[in-house]
Amino acid sequence: MESQRHRKRLYSFEFYPPKAPEGVEKLRATWRQLGQLNPAFFSVTYGAGGSTREGTLSTVLEIRDAGYHAAPHVSCIASSRESLREVIAQYKDHGIRHIVALRGDLPSGLAMSGEFRYASELVRFIREETGDWFQIEVACYPECHPQARKPQHDLAAFKAKIDAGANAAITQYFYNADAYFHFVDAVEAMGIDVPIVPGVMPINNFSQLARFSDMCGAEIPRWIRTKLEGFGDDTASIKAFGLDVVTELCDRLLQGGAPGLHFYTMNMAGPSSTIWQRLGL
Ligand code: FAD
Repeated sequence: MESQRHRKRLYSFEFYPPKAPEGVEKLRATWRQLGQLNPAFFSVTYGAGGSTREGTLSTVLEIRDAGYHAAPHVSCIASSRESLREVIAQYKDHGIRHIVALRGDLPSGLAMSGEFRYASELVRFIREETGDWFQIEVACYPECHPQARKPQHDLAAFKAKIDAGANAAITQYFYNADAYFHFVDAVEAMGIDVPIVPGVMPINNFSQLARFSDMCGAEIPRWIRTKLEGFGDDTASIKAFGLDVVTELCDRLLQGGAPGLHFYTMNMAGPSSTIWQRLGL
């Protein structure tokens, strides 16, 4: 963890582009509230095949025009080279200088391919098209990406993204701090020296969290799962316990040298800002 420890800490919040007008209003209130915490940036997710292309762009521009640093996610699955060229050029034309580059996931049941197979190819393409214009973040997986046949393959895939020109990484969420520390040590042993910021998923709703975790391969440790299940419909207890667990996790990560935190906000300000306050950030 040595190379991580000496970095300036960066805190960021992630949103998804709302579909309905009420969602736009709600998200606006959320980023205005979180903006008071003075984060390094806000990021906005991107649907497979460009399905949220307009929503991601308009959300990023609205946040940026309010004076904050905003970074769009761009995913390459089910997209053509030409459409990605347009998306990237559009962000460059708008003066956006920060991108989170991903392969993306298709909604279940859909089988479509695009011209790029892996995120490393997208990173290389962005560098070829725009040189050093963008700060490029990529994803990484302390508990291993669910489609990787072996952890070593996943580490090699991560290295390929850095070698292609990514500047920093944000992890998939996890509730086991040791997974992060081991991952960072393994990455450093490969000579990779970029900030690896833990992705943090606050706990608000057990069934939603269980569904997400099954899809993305994030483990909910048994002691957390059984406790959450035991609360049944008692949402107040779920939220209170979730805040304790996630605050302790963040505290351990920061004490251990993590170079910041990236919150998966689910477009809500409350849980992330409570954790932030409890950490005394
Ligand atoms: P990759 O790095 O391409 O890896 C995908 C799989 O392929 C891994 O199993 C990897 O080991 C393997 N692999 C990579 N290269 C090779 C190779 N050369 N040979 C063999 N195997 C290889 N999804 C969205 O749709 N939109 C978003 O906005 C979004 N934002 C995200 C933000 C963060 C911080 C994170 C952690 C995830 C996000 N995701 C998003 C989810 C992400 O798209 C999925 O986890 C997806 O399954 C993998 O994306 P990736 O960029 O890590 O892919």
